[in-house]
Amino acid sequence: MARLFSYVADCLSDFMESRNLKHEKLPLGFTFSFPCKQTKLEEGILLSWTKHFKARGVQGTDVVSSLRNALQKHKDIDVDVLAMVNDTVGTMMTCGYDDPRCEIGLIIGTGTNACYMEEMRHIDLVEGDEGRMCINTEWGAFGDDGALDDLRTEFDRELDLGSLNPGKQLFEKMISSLYLGELVRLILLKMTKEGLLFNGKVSAALLTKGKIEMKHVSAMEKYKEGLSNTKEILTELNLFPSEDDCIAVQHVCTIVSFRSANLCAAALAAILTRLRENKKLLRLRTTVGIDGGLYKTHPQYPKRLHKVVRRLVPNCDVRFLLSQSGSAKGAAMVTAVAHRLAAQRKKIDAVLAPFVLTLETLRDVKNKMRTELEYGLKRETQDRATVKMLPTYVCGTPDGTEKGKYLALDLGGTNFRVLLVKIRSGRRRSVRMYNKIFAIPLEIMQGTGEELFDHIVQCIADFLEYMGIKGARLPLGFTFSFPCRQASIDKGTLVGWTKGFKATDCEGEDVVDMLREAIRRRNEFDLDIVAVVNDTVGTMMTCGYEDPNCEIGLIAGTGSNVCYMEDMKNIEIVDGNEGKMCINTEWGGFGDNGCIDNIRTKYDKEVDEGSLNAGKQRYEKMTSGMYLGEIVRQILIDLTKQGLLFRGQISESLRKRGIFETKFLSQIESDRLALLQVRRILQQLGLDSTCDDSIIVKEVCGAVSRRAAQLCGAGLAAIVEKKRENRGAEHLQITVGVDGTLYKLHPHFSRVLQETVKELAPRCDVTFMLSEDGSGKGAALITAVAKRLHNIGQK
Ligand code: ADP
Ligand code: MG
Repeated sequence: MARLFSYVADCLSDFMESRNLKHEKLPLGFTFSFPCKQTKLEEGILLSWTKHFKARGVQGTDVVSSLRNALQKHKDIDVDVLAMVNDTVGTMMTCGYDDPRCEIGLIIGTGTNACYMEEMRHIDLVEGDEGRMCINTEWGAFGDDGALDDLRTEFDRELDLGSLNPGKQLFEKMISSLYLGELVRLILLKMTKEGLLFNGKVSAALLTKGKIEMKHVSAMEKYKEGLSNTKEILTELNLFPSEDDCIAVQHVCTIVSFRSANLCAAALAAILTRLRENKKLLRLRTTVGIDGGLYKTHPQYPKRLHKVVRRLVPNCDVRFLLSQSGSAKGAAMVTAVAHRLAAQRKKIDAVLAPFVLTLETLRDVKNKMRTELEYGLKRETQDRATVKMLPTYVCGTPDGTEKGKYLALDLGGTNFRVLLVKIRSGRRRSVRMYNKIFAIPLEIMQGTGEELFDHIVQCIADFLEYMGIKGARLPLGFTFSFPCRQASIDKGTLVGWTKGFKATDCEGEDVVDMLREAIRRRNEFDLDIVAVVNDTVGTMMTCGYEDPNCEIGLIAGTGSNVCYMEDMKNIEIVDGNEGKMCINTEWGGFGDNGCIDNIRTKYDKEVDEGSLNAGKQRYEKMTSGMYLGEIVRQILIDLTKQGLLFRGQISESLRKRGIFETKFLSQIESDRLALLQVRRILQQLGLDSTCDDSIIVKEVCGAVSRRAAQLCGAGLAAIVEKKRENRGAEHLQITVGVDGTLYKLHPHFSRVLQETVKELAPRCDVTFMLSEDGSGKGAALITAVAKRLHNIGQK
């Protein structure tokens, strides 16, 4: 083995010397035309030698590292083995350079073999479902399991027994040039012995293995000189052919070489059919790149092969393209492509690297979140705290005795809903809801406060009318999903707008007052506003109605936020040390003091700068639905600028803020979606992409959503750990009620979030409970609880 590769290395060194290339560091492609198992481009474990190679100690070893080792001994040359390529693949690549349709490589020479582009989703041995990969079929071994036994003749068997690898490469032995001459010899020998040729006189030459070669067969089959060639060749074998003998021998040659072409055509037809079916086409147009001495030099071989293929697969338009020095040139091309892809890969990895968070980083985020939680609870530090830890005056979860009819309002990040909620207590406990969704137009989200609240009251009026309950003065809970500082359950001062809202004259005002005034302005109906509720709290309450262990509420929707039940003794800003109160953490503002700037990327900063509230809600902007798509868009712009996407062209649509919505991340990242569908989504967005582009876009989406889920998980780990320590428990069992479209519809977000919590808070056993219509139902439940407690207080 060592000798084989050191010989190859010597040759390379001589070659580089002769071309004056010794001073250059060059990438090298190695065409190695024997069956190899590859797990990457620059590796090849030789499965078995074929043709006439038999060097010892090579089978089962990696030929690339053997070549590298041999090259290392040559201190005078510096080459980098980047790719090992089978000759079929080289041929396909060479022809593919001239004809992009080429997706099959075929060799008919000393041996025979074929490769073709197979769909990744059909290749179980390789991970990943995207795109295609070239498969080296090694079809020469077809029949080694007996599949061809009824076609094989006594001559095939005899030839096989006399070969270097008996029982192996049986298909190849019926086709390739290394064997055809010998087959002809064996047939002629038998015919002579039976007195059918040469008057039954056998010569020593005819008895000698290998005396008839492919070149002889080709010469004998030539159109015009064929017959005279035959006579000459037979005479050289010391035979004395008559005219009839020559015609007969020529006929034998034709039968043997025609059978070869027929078998090859049949196998090729199988590949063509597969390609056509893979592509679900009625008619396939494709190109086969071909190399190999037999095909190139035999006078009739190509014509016969083409004709039979066309007859076997009439629904394929096949172009046969002869490769010019295919295997070597192809290896260089594969190497060049590998070189380019490696460089591209490096750049893409560099762009996405800041989105890959180590466990250590996530622990750091958890610890910092923990610090901020404590800051927000302490009287001295809460002014400066980025996580505001707002008391909600919700002190108990439902106990099942709640009942009655309630109105609920839900102002989230995108829509406004009005609900009528009927709660039944006792054994037939149930919650029934009727609701109507109203859109909030952008000009109202960002208009004046009066306009906003007038619009809200208008929607309520519509709903009451619709339900026919305008006269009833029902208790109402108002789910208002923005940070509010509360002094009691029915008072909430808006600290600052988040998400897409920016209405004037609201910050610093009491939202309940604003709502009451708007109702008064309208002067049509009256409502008993009992509670203002954050959506996290509503979610926790809804789940708490089913599972008393639910003491945390999480929202992953337009925004990101959490609430949880905190011990009163830890809440310094509220008097009293008994019992618990729900704290709305408003964790979206985590990092606004710069404490997580080390993990913010330039893309996060761009998204922040383009937002309504620059510098605020930094954690939310890395984790929630309103921003993830926008982060992706920023990365795509950068990759395009670097020439790594969309052929370097930044389209008009890519420039549009908000075009890349977070719901597209969900679609693109869905495992059930084929690459073509991803491409279609991008096309609908006006992003004209290739398949390679689609793979990269999917990767970008994955990096952004994964980071979001992990960061969210790190935050949640801090909360559950705090709860565990509050209880002084070794282990904590707790339920988190969750709402939000990002959590509910993204294909991986919830799983990654849960895995992260498990990893970072191993002593907590956290159950996640999806809230059905959390915020609306929750508001009603809180109102009911508040009403119950209020009534008790009055008695
Ligand atoms: P909100 O948080 O406003 O109360 P949702 O929980 O429904 O309402 O979240 C809406 C947000 O979810 C949208 O702003 C959008 O960013 C995101 N979103 C919408 N559809 C999907 C989806 N299919 N996958 C992931 N996120 C989505
Ligand atoms: Mg919501």
